[in-house]
Amino acid sequence: MMDKVMAVPPAPATLEQLRRVHSASLIEQIRYVSGAGGGLLDYGDTYATAASYELARLAVGGCCTAVDCIMTGQADNGMALVRPPGHHAEAHRVSGFCLFNNIAVAARHAQVVHGVKRVLIFDFDVHHGNGTQDIFYDDDTVLFVSMHLFAPYFYPGAGALNEAGSSRGRGFTLNVPLPPGVGDWGYNRILDEVVFPKVMAFQPELVLISVGFDAHWQDPLANAGLSLTGYAQITRSLIRLVEEACNGRILFILEGGYHHQVLIAGVHNVLYALLGRDEIQDTLGPTPYAEADITRLLDKLKRQHLPN
Ligand SMILES: [Zn+2]
Repeated sequence: MMDKVMAVPPAPATLEQLRRVHSASLIEQIRYVSGAGGGLLDYGDTYATAASYELARLAVGGCCTAVDCIMTGQADNGMALVRPPGHHAEAHRVSGFCLFNNIAVAARHAQVVHGVKRVLIFDFDVHHGNGTQDIFYDDDTVLFVSMHLFAPYFYPGAGALNEAGSSRGRGFTLNVPLPPGVGDWGYNRILDEVVFPKVMAFQPELVLISVGFDAHWQDPLANAGLSLTGYAQITRSLIRLVEEACNGRILFILEGGYHHQVLIAGVHNVLYALLGRDEIQDTLGPTPYAEADITRLLDKLKRQHLPN
């Protein structure tokens, strides 16, 4: 597969790039703790090692370089295979294994350097992208859509239906809080009936995807019920949508995923789809559990986000 893919080495993000999203104090905290050999960055599970500051800057820089390749036509589309992940990192606060918000900095980079006016960020990691939401909550130039598991005690506890943006950004945050076990059919129905009409009305010029593979039914941290085939269907629908909406300019950015076999096959499947190939790797099959009914959630989503 690598013969067909252009591998782009990442350059570390500059302070200027990071400052478009993050406060100076957050950047300094990560640099300082990392420089001192590492340690916990919050009261939870987010830590730095001696290498983390450099690695986190490379992760952000890699996403910005991928945006450059797509916006200048050197690449048709892309996938940024970066660690650490980013979607929980807020403007002033690290969170949930995330130091800098890779996708948020990439979106701002596209706007500032390439003059992109409207960016769609679609997040279907099983956890809510609270950091990305925080950064763009009052912004009408970035439509943030998150599909995530929303259940008592499930991390990070944000992403309710009524969190829909503020001031100028009202209506530019779309949260789809899912009950456990929605599965392939439910995800695809919500995409077709709510998310895609909303996206087409927004007319994005660039689409960035937070893809986490922890919504798979075998993931040890969650129980969202997606299969690898379901992931591949969502990926293909997104690529088709983006071909219609903005010349196929789409960049997938890796977030979570805690079952190694799923993560490996899932990444392969995104690359197959981006290359226009038909094959799908799925040795684990569909969820053996009954899929949750989402009819009422769909009605509420339509009432709130698709008036008329
Ligand atoms: Zn996650």
